[in-house]
Amino acid sequence: MKTHLDKYGLVFLYGCYSSSHNTTAEFLCRNSHIQKRDVADLDKTLISTGKRILNLPTRANVNLVHLSTNKGGAALPLFRALLDVHAISHAFRLLASDDQLTSDVAFAGLRGVVRKKILRDPTPSECAEFLNGNKAGDFARESGDLSTLWSRARQAADRLFKFIKFSWTFNEELGCFNLNIYRSPNPVCVVPSTAGLVARLLRDDLESFYIMQLSSLVDQGKTVEVFSQHPASNHFLQAGDFTRFCDWNFIHRARLGCLQLNATMRFSKRNPKCRKGGYVRETIPHVLNHCKPHSDAWKRRHDAIQNRVARAISSSVGSVAINKKFPGIAQTLIPDMVLTKKSGEVFVIDFTVAFEDRLSSFAKARQGKIDKYLPIVEHLRREGKVAHVDAIVVGSLGSWDPSNDAALAQMGVSKKYAKLMRKLICSDTIRWSRDIYIQHLTDKKQY
Ligand SMILES: [Zn+2]
Repeated sequence: MKTHLDKYGLVFLYGCYSSSHNTTAEFLCRNSHIQKRDVADLDKTLISTGKRILNLPTRANVNLVHLSTNKGGAALPLFRALLDVHAISHAFRLLASDDQLTSDVAFAGLRGVVRKKILRDPTPSECAEFLNGNKAGDFARESGDLSTLWSRARQAADRLFKFIKFSWTFNEELGCFNLNIYRSPNPVCVVPSTAGLVARLLRDDLESFYIMQLSSLVDQGKTVEVFSQHPASNHFLQAGDFTRFCDWNFIHRARLGCLQLNATMRFSKRNPKCRKGGYVRETIPHVLNHCKPHSDAWKRRHDAIQNRVARAISSSVGSVAINKKFPGIAQTLIPDMVLTKKSGEVFVIDFTVAFEDRLSSFAKARQGKIDKYLPIVEHLRREGKVAHVDAIVVGSLGSWDPSNDAALAQMGVSKKYAKLMRKLICSDTIRWSRDIYIQHLTDKKQY
């Protein structure tokens, strides 16, 4: 049961994780008794390596390093937490084993350990309380605990409660242990037949905690809940597809609000005003979405998205018109794209690049576009046509709004092509935003 892991073993463990062979690392975590102190140094190394890979300054929040690549992180776990997850999973799987002998021996072992703690025969519910890290009443007694897999599961639960909410219970009716994971909105109760899911469920909850904790930061946490929503926003993290090195070096800093701008540099006494035009605060959203000297680049960034979508609509679906005017309606209302399907159905679509400042920014940008072009749709409906209006919203830091997918499907873009197009659009947008930022700093035109 006990496997000794030396320094090289730990480095190997890291290698397993940083490559895609996570299962090897999981196997080692599951089946080894690794000392906490052994992993403390490894965690430090992983964090500094992760920050170097993502080109983040040391002051950057570490949570991004621990997120999976789908969520925009470097997928380097906090090993201390991962070991705790596996300690609990291992204990649960033994107690839940299909093999009666294994589960009986496991239960007897657990009862023996709890008996040593409370100095009497424990009930099954008291065994669950022991695993929950309960320190009240009889459990308060200091005992010269030997380290067993049960005491390690107890300590692991105690540490993980800081991040995730779950508890062990004993189901008297069925005579088995359950693990309740109180995730919102849908809590999960793991029963013996689903024991294999424990590690994944706890890891997912740990990841949700990292996202929530990062998003609670005023300066670094504005964008994470948006870019972690859709894998297309982070597709380049695995293999760097469609992404230049300079975009890579820009994007993670930008997402964590750590760019070298007058109002975002920490501990600097510099004037926070924009170096161009003197706007009060030179922030990332200001430079990428509001600073007027860059309006030409914004237009190109916007058109790049529009052109990709226009090209994705096959002529067999209908005809596409760009910047189409509707005589008889306010002349200022010129939607980016109008698709007239062969059936006569009309789709009015506008494209917008919004800064991903919390989820509400995307909802607001979409609603703004829908409200703006509603008069056209109402006009068409009065003429007896079937008409719809929607928007394609992309974050200036390459976040894909999941609500775009319904609009693409309605426009007849095939699922297969949409998958590739989303990635291309997110990468295009990041490239434009990086060029705008560098031009802002250096005055050198980047395109
Ligand atoms: Zn400005």
